[in-house]
Amino acid sequence: MTTPILIDTHAHINFNEYDSDREEVMERAFNSGVGKILHSCCRINEIETLLKLSKQFNGNGFSDLYIAVGVHPTEFHSWDNESESEILAILDKELAQPDHKIRAIGETGLDYYHCTTGAEQEKQREIFNKQIELAKRFQLPLIIHTRDAESDTLNILEAHFKNTKSDRNGTIHCFTGSQDFALACIELGFFISWSGILTFKSSKSLREVAKVVPLEKTLVETDCPFLAPQAQRGKRNEPSYVNYVAEQLSEIKGLGKTEIMNITTQNAEYLFKI
Ligand SMILES: [Zn+2]
Repeated sequence: MTTPILIDTHAHINFNEYDSDREEVMERAFNSGVGKILHSCCRINEIETLLKLSKQFNGNGFSDLYIAVGVHPTEFHSWDNESESEILAILDKELAQPDHKIRAIGETGLDYYHCTTGAEQEKQREIFNKQIELAKRFQLPLIIHTRDAESDTLNILEAHFKNTKSDRNGTIHCFTGSQDFALACIELGFFISWSGILTFKSSKSLREVAKVVPLEKTLVETDCPFLAPQAQRGKRNEPSYVNYVAEQLSEIKGLGKTEIMNITTQNAEYLFKI
């Protein structure tokens, strides 16, 4: 029997919060059962570093690090006319390598909490649409960030995916939305990913949503260095803490942690081909 592993489907290991102990963090993740990590991407100028990190952390005592490529909605100002051709060139080149570790487009989406003007939100929608086109073109799943923008996010996802039959269109990362939104996204071929927020004392209603979301559509993540779970709240988050999210989910679902590990890992392996 193989030992169950966990997959942290959303982390930012390149951030300077880890500059002094990145290897130890990755080692600690591996030793805590986190066999694989999917590294999200916020800006085009991070991609080179992510490619390097994905080569450096390749199993062998560290968690195996896979990466995404994309532009975060709050980084919309970094997207200009050249960005699209730049990302295209990177994807064309890297995806041709047999051992590449690019597994998703993102994180992309809408963040109306941080960007409140009509012009900013318009630009976010524009680069969200462009990144969805990229995902379709390269047949990669999307990592979606959405905050205070459920109805526009859903409209855009419906426009692109309503008539597709794929159940591998992506994930709604760090889910904090309503039950209706979760179920509508699942209907469009998306997974729901829970972060440390699920463990917060104040997240009672979110745990109610998690009760309803089918386990076979569920992923777990840390979104580290942000959002450390309740037990570590206020500290720097790290991939090993995804264990707390799995434990919380096991409590919510009334199942053993091993079962949660097996199912969420199977889901992440299926969605991201990792
Ligand atoms: Zn993120």
